[in-house]
Amino acid sequence: MPIFDFACQDCGRKFDLMISNADKDKVTCPDCSSKNIKQLLSEFHTGKTRPSFGPSCSQGCSAAASGA
Ligand SMILES: [Zn+2]
Repeated sequence: MPIFDFACQDCGRKFDLMISNADKDKVTCPDCSSKNIKQLLSEFHTGKTRPSFGPSCSQGCSAAASGA
């Protein structure tokens, strides 16, 4: 089950919960019980992709690397 990060919009409390997607709408603040919760996007889920040059890389990878 995935872990999601949340921030309470009322008191600013940040917390994480291990819940299912279906339960994300039911999240309440552990401090003030507010339902005004915003889900934070953890870096794990942002999907940053950078090209990786593996050992199988042949011509072109050096040009691409220098071009970056
Ligand atoms: Zn709160």
